[in-house]
Amino acid sequence: MKIQTRISLIFTVLTAGIILSLSVFIYIFASDSISASFFHRLEVRSNIVGHAALQKNKTQTSIYYDIKEKHLGDLPYEQHQIIWKNEVKKADSLKKKFPMPQSFYDEIVRKQPARFFKNDTSYVGLSVIQSGENIIVLSSAVDLYGLEEMENLKNLLVIGFFISLVFVFTFGKFFSIQIFQPIRQIIRNVKGISAHNLNQRLKVSTSKDEITDLSKTFNDMLDRLEITFEIQNNFVSNASHEFKTPLTIISGEAQLGLSVGDIPEIARDSFRTIFRESEKLEHLTNSMLSLAQTGFDGKKEQWDEIRIDELILSVKGTADQIMPNNKVEINFDQLPEDEEKLVVNGNETLLKAAFSNIVLNSCKYSDNKPVNVLIKAGETYVIIEIADEGIGIPDREIAQIFVPFFRASNTEKYKGYGIGLPLTNNIIKLHQGSIVVNSEVGVGTRFTVYLPFK
Ligand code: ADP
Repeated sequence: MKIQTRISLIFTVLTAGIILSLSVFIYIFASDSISASFFHRLEVRSNIVGHAALQKNKTQTSIYYDIKEKHLGDLPYEQHQIIWKNEVKKADSLKKKFPMPQSFYDEIVRKQPARFFKNDTSYVGLSVIQSGENIIVLSSAVDLYGLEEMENLKNLLVIGFFISLVFVFTFGKFFSIQIFQPIRQIIRNVKGISAHNLNQRLKVSTSKDEITDLSKTFNDMLDRLEITFEIQNNFVSNASHEFKTPLTIISGEAQLGLSVGDIPEIARDSFRTIFRESEKLEHLTNSMLSLAQTGFDGKKEQWDEIRIDELILSVKGTADQIMPNNKVEINFDQLPEDEEKLVVNGNETLLKAAFSNIVLNSCKYSDNKPVNVLIKAGETYVIIEIADEGIGIPDREIAQIFVPFFRASNTEKYKGYGIGLPLTNNIIKLHQGSIVVNSEVGVGTRFTVYLPFK
């Protein structure tokens, strides 16, 4: 999961927790205060009913009821039960009628107002004393208005909760995208930097934040990497250059020796060996020089628009010269109709060297069995498949064939230095392409090269 999604999720969960706790708090607080006020209203009525009942004089009783009716009004489902002192037994039967807990009655006995709420009904119990007479009034009513208020509040809080979640997640996502924008920019820039354009640097903004620090640190690292690459590269280039002159002299001298007419056969053999080996060394030195050059600075080469089908045809021409018995077949069946999809931006000499290496390897490691070259186009790449029916590459070793000087364990009977494929790989990477290798020992090998068309 991306960090920006994780941040917006954490943000949403945290906010959801806060909103939920707040909503529960508001709900409980509102419910408590609404029910407290209703209990109070019921107690006032209960008290009046109690005092009215205790009046000896009927006129006074009706005055109490008048006050209650005119100034207070009836509550929904309002009911009152009066228990006289001599009716305590009745009180016991009332307990069955009013299913209140014992604590409710204990409160009344302690002469305190008792409150109880069950099935939307509020119950109040009061002990009323007047002129030495004591009665108990049990009152009940339903707070229809309060219940409706609470229902509305609950709906409001639930809907508000979900709406705010959607808002929080959307805004969280939006802000995290904004926050990570500079980091994505850095990733994009860094992806564009490879061994071939190590001179590129990240843009450093003027603000003094962590992103600027990160870009600076990265640029410092690139400085050090570039220097190291340059030192290593110069060393290989210089060494290869230095080897060239003595090697030319050695092979020249060997040729001179061979041209002398009357020298013993043993000396002639010796000159031949010196000449052959110095040629090999020269080839090796040249390959190392190319490897060093292509491995580092792509700016040195000249870039043109190159048609891949034409390039492959000229590679076939080279193969015909070097290995006249080759059975390289070029398959044009899947050529794209749009010719633009065959044109790549690149250096012809390098690309030719790269494809020659693969094709010549296929001929070499298959002892000139048929080699099939197929050209086709993908969405953004031109694809070149080179398949042979040769010795194959052992599974464990496939990953190493692009390592300089590596040769697979089944190649003893074939000559080689292990430089061709690393060079090819560097060239293809220099052209922003890639190589995929599929191989099975004893069955054959297929190299698939992907090159972006222009
Ligand atoms: P080499 O000079 O040894 O051919 P390369 O760099 O061209 O050097 O190839 C590296 C190794 O990859 C070879 O030694 C060989 O083991 C393996 N290889 C390359 N191409 C093929 C192929 N077509 N079939 C089998 N093995 C191959």
